[in-house]
Amino acid sequence: MKRALAVAACAAAAAGARSAVRRVAEFRPVEPDVPPVDLDGLDADAAAGRLAELIRIPTVSSRNPAEVDAAAFARFRARLAELYPGTHEALEREVLGDGALLYRWRGTSDDDPLVLMAHYDVVPVAGQDWSRDPFSGLVEDGVVHGRGAIDDKGSLVAILEAVEALVTAGFTPRRDVWLSFGNDEEIAGVGAQLAVAALTGRGIRPWAVLDEGGAVVSGMFPGVPGQVAVVGLAEKGLLDVELTTTDPGGHASSPTRNGAPARLARAILAIEANPFPARLDDVVLGMVDAVGRHASGPLHAVFAHAGRLRPLLAAVLSRASREANALVRTTVAVTRLQGSPAANVLATTARAHLNIRIALGETVGSTVARLRRVIDDPAVRLDVVSGNDPSPVSRADNAAYALVAAAAKAAYPDAAVAPYLMVQASDARHFSQVCDSVYRFMPFDVTREELAALHAADERISVAALHRGAGFFRHLIRSL
Ligand SMILES: [Zn+2]
Repeated sequence: MKRALAVAACAAAAAGARSAVRRVAEFRPVEPDVPPVDLDGLDADAAAGRLAELIRIPTVSSRNPAEVDAAAFARFRARLAELYPGTHEALEREVLGDGALLYRWRGTSDDDPLVLMAHYDVVPVAGQDWSRDPFSGLVEDGVVHGRGAIDDKGSLVAILEAVEALVTAGFTPRRDVWLSFGNDEEIAGVGAQLAVAALTGRGIRPWAVLDEGGAVVSGMFPGVPGQVAVVGLAEKGLLDVELTTTDPGGHASSPTRNGAPARLARAILAIEANPFPARLDDVVLGMVDAVGRHASGPLHAVFAHAGRLRPLLAAVLSRASREANALVRTTVAVTRLQGSPAANVLATTARAHLNIRIALGETVGSTVARLRRVIDDPAVRLDVVSGNDPSPVSRADNAAYALVAAAAKAAYPDAAVAPYLMVQASDARHFSQVCDSVYRFMPFDVTREELAALHAADERISVAALHRGAGFFRHLIRSL
């Protein structure tokens, strides 16, 4: 209901976003030349200490309400107010639904606001082999350890460190700044949708929105030395499908040929043998174009003509790595498999769960239709469990993107800034229904190992990255 409201109220914004797809194709950003961000008055160790405290409150999300420790979420909200007293005095705060937080910081003008997003729920740690207690918030050798250190208490703390420093200094932003902190992002809950509905219900259309997503990475692009700050402009769609085959069953001592498990296995192999086509969409083209200017040797020439070499580059990326492959096509992962429950009983039902990430330009409908064609067997039932189309594409040719790019450059002067396609789903997709300038970027420089620890064991963030992240947000708010 609320979602329908938000969608209906903002059809115009969505239409604008659609036309932005074309703009990205001509995206030739001028690399901003900005002085490095100043970190004066931002206390790195104190920020790390506050993040550590918040990591110690285990706000673990679960789809099973019985497994959610509501008291921990309440404690987290109360502790935030104590850790950031200036912010909680200067900003108006409301609690939406089960605990989504929405703050308004009034600016000096009536211009459309900036929305800074983060979420304070985290994924569980069960079954993971951590070298340290995931909820100890240990700070050791310049690193904060624990679940949520990056995803996404790190962003939340970096935002609040910036706001607190500015409020304490008596600063008022030129535009309103809203802080939207979700409590259920990891279970694709309703917190962010409630925030979108709260804003649209008051006739407020964000000027720009910034949420988690890309980061400052190194070594991700072949032939490109140094750091790249990747700013997400869109995210792939998410589709869950169940394949089912059935049989009369019977005793395993006298099996039938072509039984339910065999037909299911054939369907899976057909999907594996017929991957979705690799295509370089406009966002990834923009990324290749921006990154390519920093490539060395023959790759520089290839990247420089990316627009004319789309099929070639799509083929190259699809083979470069599994991450690069995910950028250029719809991917299908077979996750759960189920057959007979007993060792000596034929399966009456065999099931496979497909977790699918839909590329830009495709839809839930077109993806399901292609799967049916590829499986080509009426005895295999295909049910859609849930599905979202890819998000609209945010603009990269406007003042909002330029501001985010300039702040990233100020915080990381040696980094190239590039647009990016998110392969995971995030809360930002709800705001992209009402705003054509939704950017997905965490202002932290992270190693491959640190990125791999998201949702896994040994999640951590360096104190220096957290510090620069706070500097990024402060610079961004000052520049509004
Ligand atoms: Zn997250």
